[in-house]
Amino acid sequence: MWKRIPLYVKILLGMTAGILLGFIACALHFEGFVSDWVKPWGTIFIRLLKFVAVPLVFISLIKGIGGLKDISRLSHMGFRTVAIYIGTTVMAITVGLLLVNLIHPGKVFPREKAEEYRGRYEQTVDEKKKAAEEIKDAGPLAFLVDMVPENLIQAGSDNTKMLQIIFVALLFGIAMVAVGGEKMKVLMSALDAADTVILKIIDYIMEFAPLGVLGLMASLVVDSAGNGEIFAALGMYAFTVAFSLFLLIFLFYPALLRLFTSVKIKQFFWAMSPVQLLAFSTSSSAATLPLTLERTEQELKISNEVVSFVLPVGVTINMDGTSCYQAVATVFIAQVMGLELTLSQMLLIIFMTTLSSIGTPGIPGGSIVMFVMVLSSVGIPVEGLALILGMDRPLDMLRTVVNVTGDATVACMVEEGEKNRKGKHRLRGTDS
Ligand code: ASP
Repeated sequence: MWKRIPLYVKILLGMTAGILLGFIACALHFEGFVSDWVKPWGTIFIRLLKFVAVPLVFISLIKGIGGLKDISRLSHMGFRTVAIYIGTTVMAITVGLLLVNLIHPGKVFPREKAEEYRGRYEQTVDEKKKAAEEIKDAGPLAFLVDMVPENLIQAGSDNTKMLQIIFVALLFGIAMVAVGGEKMKVLMSALDAADTVILKIIDYIMEFAPLGVLGLMASLVVDSAGNGEIFAALGMYAFTVAFSLFLLIFLFYPALLRLFTSVKIKQFFWAMSPVQLLAFSTSSSAATLPLTLERTEQELKISNEVVSFVLPVGVTINMDGTSCYQAVATVFIAQVMGLELTLSQMLLIIFMTTLSSIGTPGIPGGSIVMFVMVLSSVGIPVEGLALILGMDRPLDMLRTVVNVTGDATVACMVEEGEKNRKGKHRLRGTDS
């Protein structure tokens, strides 16, 4: 019976049970029990997902690239992927900017709260400022240097260094195509077998998902108890962010799918629902990656070579939800501080939030440090960050849902492009 329940329903059950347990624990004062006995299951779940992400990306990307007959397809796919990612990010930011300028959430924010929050979050703001300065000092080509690992084991030991893993896998795959021949066939079938084993491990981890999600949600409710007053003060701001994200998920992505792919929207949401719920409960697109890969390949039937390249790259450089959120947050802080933003500042917001989302790691609250840089380059006092920190986690959950949905949408678009290209080559008799 349990086996026949769809994954998204199981995750939903876990989430509901976790939220209920969290509220009951707060009401009956057994928060300690939740921290000691329930939260660890959530932590174990996240660890399992993170642990499987590196071997999965590594093996399936080598397999995807190694299976190409013509490496020029890789550069075509790479270029298309990055171009679409940047395009969707700019669109997402524009949606956020339009709504925040229409709704004006900063105007209804109670002024007296601004000082209070500044005091409360002073230390966190200082920490984030320092971290942002370190990144700024790193120089313009630091991101390229960061992509190249010194050591394979080290690269695989840090999930935030996914680009290093992608780099090694690309190199390996390209070398495999160049060498070719019988030996490579053996290697390919070994990789295929390893990939199947990892997918099986993901199935096991997903069996554990309801309990893991229960642990995450229960501890989240317990940890956020007492924040009700902050949530009320920031209600209009939260509504603006949530509404923008909602438009992206239910209007923007379906429109892209309809215009540029043959994927049915219903089928897309069916395939993505467990991924979205997982993104919501973990607040981490990196932790969600194994499931995103599995569902897009198996349920949406996107080819392995496309998903294994497009999705891990997306987790590192494409964050539509995050960039949309940052645009709203920047203008909101300016509104509360009574600063009028000029058109050139708005354009700067588009540029900076695009860059910032590229540099944001797919972890809970990963964008806050980059957000400090956005604020300072637009000329808004970084202390304004204190205004929104109390509300960050619930909005992080929502923007992560958009981040993973955006990645999967682009995977569908790239797949369509590849199919069309293959079709054209076939017609011309130059099949690759
Ligand atoms: N939590 C987000 C993600 O993992 C990143 C962020 O916006 O902070 O995609």
